[in-house]
This record gives sequence, C-alpha cells and structure tokens, in this order.
Amino acid sequence: MDDLKFGTRDKRGNWRPNEALGSAPLFVWPWSISKFIRWLPGYFLPWNALFFAIAAVFWFFMTPARETMQDLTWGWPLYLLARNAALVIAFYGFLETRLYIKRRQGTSFKYNAKFPAEHPSDVFMFKSQNIDNIIRTFGTGLPIWTAYEVLLLWAWSNDVGPWAVFSLHPVWLIFVGLILPIFHEFHFYCIHRLIHTPLLYKWVHSVHHNSINPSPWSSLSMHPVEHLLYWSGTLIHLIVPSHPLLLLYHLQLSGTGAVVGHVGFDKLEAGEDSAVTTHAYAHYLHHKYFEVNYADGMMPLDRWMGTWHDGTPEGDQIMKERFRRKKARANAAKGTTPAE
Ligand SMILES: [Zn+2]
Ligand SMILES: [Zn+2]
Repeated sequence: MDDLKFGTRDKRGNWRPNEALGSAPLFVWPWSISKFIRWLPGYFLPWNALFFAIAAVFWFFMTPARETMQDLTWGWPLYLLARNAALVIAFYGFLETRLYIKRRQGTSFKYNAKFPAEHPSDVFMFKSQNIDNIIRTFGTGLPIWTAYEVLLLWAWSNDVGPWAVFSLHPVWLIFVGLILPIFHEFHFYCIHRLIHTPLLYKWVHSVHHNSINPSPWSSLSMHPVEHLLYWSGTLIHLIVPSHPLLLLYHLQLSGTGAVVGHVGFDKLEAGEDSAVTTHAYAHYLHHKYFEVNYADGMMPLDRWMGTWHDGTPEGDQIMKERFRRKKARANAAKGTTPAE
C-alpha cells in the first residue's frame, strides 16, 4: 500500500498523515447527523468491537463461577493473572513480531522512521526499551490490572455495589457499554493531567515517557503509581449500576487496548489494498512533544484546554508558539530575559 497517498514523509523518513486529527461529531457544535453517521462505524470497528468480543469470551468462558469468587483465595486471582498475561503476550507479541521484528510493512505508515531496538539508551533497564517495557508490564502492570479485576469481581460475587442484570436493566447497561470508551478517555485525561504536574511527572510519569518513540511494549510500561491511577477508572463500576461483562470490557479497553495508541504505525497493512487504522497519531504526538494531546481527541478536552495538536504543520506552529509563550512567562517569573 502506498502510504504517500495518505501522508507525507520528511527528509528523516518520518511519516505524518495528511488529514488533520478530529474529534467525535458528538462533541462538535453544531451537531451534524450525517457526520455522526459516518463516524459511528469507526467508533465500534475494529477496536472497540474486538475488545468487547474478547471481554465476552473472558466473561462467558474464562471467568470462575460466582461462588468461587466469593472467597478471596489465591487460586482464582492467579488464574485471572495468567489469563490476562497470556492475552497480552499473544496480542502485543503479535504486533511486536509483525511490525518490529519481521518488519512486514517496513516503515510504511510509521510515524518515526527509527526502530527502538537499534537505539540502546541509558534511560532503560539493560539499555533496552523492550526489556525495560516488558519488565514493567509484567512486574506491576498486569498484577495491578488483575488486582482491580479481582477486587471488583469479588465485590460483584458478594453483592457489594449497585450491580445490575441485563434482563431487568437492558437499556441502562447498553448505554453504559456504549459510553465506556468515552468515559475511559475522560478518566485517562484527568489522571494524565495530574501526573504531568512537576513532582508526579518527575517521580512517576517520566517512566512512561522514556519511550519517546513508543512501540507495542511501551503501552503498559508505567510506574506502579501510574498503574494504580490508570485502572482506578474501573472503580466507577462500584458507583453506577453495572455488570461484570462491562467491567471486563472496561479492562480490555484500558489494558489490552493501550497498545492501539502505542503501536507507532498509522495503519496496519492487512493485504495488498487493505489496512486497519490505529488512531495512534494523537498519542504518538504526546510521546514526541510531551505537553500536547493529554487525551486522544475523541472528546475535545485538549481543544478546550488549548493543548490540542491536530497533527498538521499548522498544529506544529500553534504548539511552538504556545511553548514560546510558556518559556517567556517562566523567564519573566524568574526575572530573566529570554536568550533569543
Ligand atoms: Zn503513552
Ligand atoms: Zn504523558
């Protein structure tokens, strides 16, 4: 597939899409029903539908019986940890192998022409982005993800919380299922802004930002405090009436789904003429420039707060001007004159 039909490549080999990043028409005034109808299939396909399907398989076939989960023993939590780890190994491993080891599509649709494995860096354990990322993913990421799952499934099994059943509350539960991806983005935006405050950035979030050129294993490479905050959004299921299947969907969106934003490619080629869009560019720009796109733009939170980068050269200019003003303000506060 010719990626230059969809974007441009600079002299360093970095590719950027031609089309500006946008927000879901739900949040763009005035509402346009035709834009909404055109946007809707991409809201479900392929990613959210895939993560819901995985959640359904987990719920119907790979989650212990309610009576088993009423007691907090070691057995079933360890089983859930192994189940989640197996999925991450399969899913992340597939993308890593295809795109970064076998390099099936070379640098086609790749934002950053470099491959992290060719650039060892002292910021990573063993100087390797992949080894460091994998240690953090399995060391604290999967245990904390699973701990939230265990806590909430234990709560459901013991009738702790406002759990609902589909036969009695179908409309409400479908509504919750439909808005979960939007809620996940909103919650992520809030905790993400929090961990970009200077102290938390230094001690916590800088770990995730070590991957300036993210690849699949960067997705859940975080400080344990960030892992705790990241999955705290699932506590919403103890506040609003919900169902364990929706909890598992929420964990898929945030756990397995994190890879979609870190894959480093705009499209995953699936044949001569077909490709799957990743929507990874907004978060790629966050890893590249740090102080833009705290969310992915589905909700226009960054637009409202003045931190949005739409991926275009004009977006670059707006960002540079904002950084220049910020630097000037910081210099003024210190009582110094800018050097340039
Ligand atoms: Zn990230
Ligand atoms: Zn960040």
